[in-house]
Amino acid sequence: MLTVAQALTQVLENTLQLSPVRLPLHDALNHVLTESLTTPHDSPPFDKSMMDGFAISSTHVSDGESKTLNVIETITAGTLPTQSLGRGTASRIMTGAPMPDSADCVIPIEHTSFDEKSPEFVTISAEHVQAEQNVLRRGVSAQSGTPLIVAGTVLRPQHIAVLAEFGVAEVPVVPRPIVGVLATGDELIESSEALTPGRIRNSNEPMLVTQIRRAGGVPMPLGIARDDEQELTNRIAAGLQEDVLLLSGGVSAGMLDLVPAQLASAGVEQVFHGIHMKPGKPLWFGTLQRGHRQCLVFGLPGNPVSSMVCFEVFVRPALDQLAGLIPHGFRNRTATLTEDIKIRGDRPTYLPSTLISTEAGLKATPVAWGGSADLRSTAEANGVSCLDSGGQGYKVGDSVPVICWDEI
Ligand code: AMP
Ligand code: MG
Repeated sequence: MLTVAQALTQVLENTLQLSPVRLPLHDALNHVLTESLTTPHDSPPFDKSMMDGFAISSTHVSDGESKTLNVIETITAGTLPTQSLGRGTASRIMTGAPMPDSADCVIPIEHTSFDEKSPEFVTISAEHVQAEQNVLRRGVSAQSGTPLIVAGTVLRPQHIAVLAEFGVAEVPVVPRPIVGVLATGDELIESSEALTPGRIRNSNEPMLVTQIRRAGGVPMPLGIARDDEQELTNRIAAGLQEDVLLLSGGVSAGMLDLVPAQLASAGVEQVFHGIHMKPGKPLWFGTLQRGHRQCLVFGLPGNPVSSMVCFEVFVRPALDQLAGLIPHGFRNRTATLTEDIKIRGDRPTYLPSTLISTEAGLKATPVAWGGSADLRSTAEANGVSCLDSGGQGYKVGDSVPVICWDEI
């Protein structure tokens, strides 16, 4: 049986980045840019004032002197100057407005003597005059044709703003994977329904739907399929239209565990079935190739905690890779245990744990956990501790690999 590391390698080897699409800027947050972009024009696109005040030519005011100038026009942001400055003149100007010809500085209004009652004059003393002050020259931030954002960048609001400044209305990015979720089992009822004898609620669907969202995917719930060949065939065919199909249940050794056979008859090629881990041993993984499109198929164990853990360990990294991101943190963080633990059985165990950040680093406290059907106790967990079986067991203070489900 494969180890977790071997299985994850096989998942990622079979996971191809999705083909680029063009998205409107507002929808591009957290997507990966697929083309390096260059600036189509200078920024700022014209010489502009950085202050509310008076545009003058510094050469017109000599050292030590205080000079009264004629105010020949007012330039507000969004309007154009109509006059160029001559000796003895100034233009009133607002922040963001284009500079008039032959002006080379802006004197902030608070550094002038100016009376709104006689707005045709302003008096400026030389101590406040310095060439280039409060002027942002065309192209100072970026010149046309220079690199703007490189391919591979994960777009954040600051990138979106820059793209908007340069008039990029649609941006080439890797799309988010669309992930079908199909729960299987005769015993399942909707989570909104009252319990009847022998039935349980379908908690895996809402769990997986929200795990997909947290992982940046687009969930597509496909309801509950009964343990019936025809029904499974139909529902699986619908789910295989998506980028990824998650099934829950029906992959173990029970009489009605029909999922692997139905996937095979739908043309899905099995990559592996079964992993040396706890919980999650029955995990099934395969791929369907349709022309240049691919569907990754995960048959997750029905037991809720198995499904939850398998999602975080195998599906989430695959969703990242489909979306062009570095696969989500697998064994790249460690935490110190806050209690002694002995792992029973012979499989590496992914124990739901409460992970907290302290000055001394991450601390992990495994939740009191009753096994793969004990969903309730995972409400206290925000990750798993990855523990090996056998040996002496673990002591307080031991450092162990962890997988964080949330930002910690
Ligand atoms: P299976 O993998 O189909 O053998 O299911 C294993 C266990 O998980 C059984 O106890 C099922 O009742 C339970 N189970 C299966 N699917 C779900 C689900 N969608 N929500 C909650 N529990 C489930
Ligand atoms: Mg079942």
